[in-house]
Amino acid sequence: MLKFDGKRMKFDDERLSESGFIKDKKGSIFTYLYLVIIISIVLMAILILNLSMVYYEIDQNELNSKTFNYVLYDYETNIPVLSYKVLENLSNRVVEAGLPLTDSRESIKKELEKSLLQKNKEYHKNSGIQIEGHVSYVGNGEDPFHININTLITAFKDNISYNKQITSEISIENLKDPLPAIKCGKYQSFSYNSTNYNYGNSLSEYLESKNQFGSQYYINGTSPLKIKKCIYEPYTQHGEGVSMESCLKNGYYHESRDGSCYLHRLEGVGLCSDYGMETFILPNPKLNQSGLMATSSPDHVIFGYSYPGESILLNNSHGSKSLIFLDNSHRQKYGIR
Ligand SMILES: [Zn+2]
Ligand SMILES: [Zn+2]
Repeated sequence: MLKFDGKRMKFDDERLSESGFIKDKKGSIFTYLYLVIIISIVLMAILILNLSMVYYEIDQNELNSKTFNYVLYDYETNIPVLSYKVLENLSNRVVEAGLPLTDSRESIKKELEKSLLQKNKEYHKNSGIQIEGHVSYVGNGEDPFHININTLITAFKDNISYNKQITSEISIENLKDPLPAIKCGKYQSFSYNSTNYNYGNSLSEYLESKNQFGSQYYINGTSPLKIKKCIYEPYTQHGEGVSMESCLKNGYYHESRDGSCYLHRLEGVGLCSDYGMETFILPNPKLNQSGLMATSSPDHVIFGYSYPGESILLNNSHGSKSLIFLDNSHRQKYGIR
């Protein structure tokens, strides 16, 4: 309980008024000084603390944007890998079913966006960054062995956002060529192994249905399963030594104005107006007679607009002989006399 002692209070007042005034005034000057110093120290401490917090925030922001950029770089480098996987899955599916895609560009776009969506979820879970990827273009690349895919990437987290259009050039090498499977897959005797299509009677039946003469020479014919770019350039080199033999043995593909591009091959189109590619379909391996006439062996002549060629025996290094049918313009292109 607080007690008010009126008497003592009065006495103190008297003392203050009599002698202690100057002393007390001096004391309060010191008190004010102390107060000012303490306040200044407190203010400075607050200021220093604030500054360091600002620096910490800047550091943190820098760190955030570094992580952000790193994650996006990682995402961007993943797109070509995902694109190749999409192309591989689509072509495998087409070859297995023997059925063409109705719109290969649309199928690639749809499948790639589906796999990007899956990736977006993973990135969000691991980094907290919200990423979206939209495929804006699918088309032929600079050469027929590449497909170009444009993707629009948007990403954001907290106050950082990102917007970029990237073009990925996807190699189609080592993907299966879907065209033979679409054209001949419906015939019973058609089959394939890890490197080749084996036509059995299928190709001869197919050529017969196109009213091609000499179709019987293609019984038990073969052609490559996977796309491989020919190493013999310029192409006229094929006429020298065993180059042509080696090219046929390896199942190489060549750039060609008349040959079908990969996007059209997925749709079962044997020749198209794009700058495409061609490979050779080997006739019956037992044939060993030059001067026979049958449909010329480049695949766009077999599966597209057909015309005849003459059989040519080629020498290989072991002295045994293989044979293809070639028209004049293809003989010229490959330097074969
Ligand atoms: Zn070649
Ligand atoms: Zn095409």
